[in-house]
Amino acid sequence: MAVREVVVWPDDRLRQASVEIKEIDASVRELYQDLVDSMYAENGLGIAALQIGDPRRMFIVEPKLAGKAAEDRPVAFINPEIVLVSDEQQDSEEGCLSFPDIYIKVKRPMTAKVRAMGMDGQMFELEGSGLLARCLLHEHDHLTGKLLVDFVGPLKRQMIKKKLSKLKDDAA
Ligand SMILES: [Zn+2]
Repeated sequence: MAVREVVVWPDDRLRQASVEIKEIDASVRELYQDLVDSMYAENGLGIAALQIGDPRRMFIVEPKLAGKAAEDRPVAFINPEIVLVSDEQQDSEEGCLSFPDIYIKVKRPMTAKVRAMGMDGQMFELEGSGLLARCLLHEHDHLTGKLLVDFVGPLKRQMIKKKLSKLKDDAA
């Protein structure tokens, strides 16, 4: 198990094409554990493999948010697909581990249903609304290379870039 460094925008690795996972082997189990460790280290609600620099098509969501008990393992979504979204929308601020301390208002469907493979190799579907729908859609966006900054105009994007590079300088 290992906490991996979370890749921060505008790192190009966040824009890589994601690669389908064919089977749940030891390296996928290792990736899962690294995602779990890295998400908990950063107090995230979810994290995608691209955010720790791995292009495989997988994200995880914190168990309570995904409808499990708090002590359960985070839920893995392997090769996920969004199969349904509601017409009804929600509009609230969204954060991302790849954009530390940045919150952006993003309009999203109120409800979303995802189909994915779990760590047991079985396909499953999960439907969520409110924050869970937002989280599922956000993490799925990562796997298509879409990021929070794609929801804002060029001026705001410039401001975010400045803020993040200042954070980086301060940390150095
Ligand atoms: Zn994110």
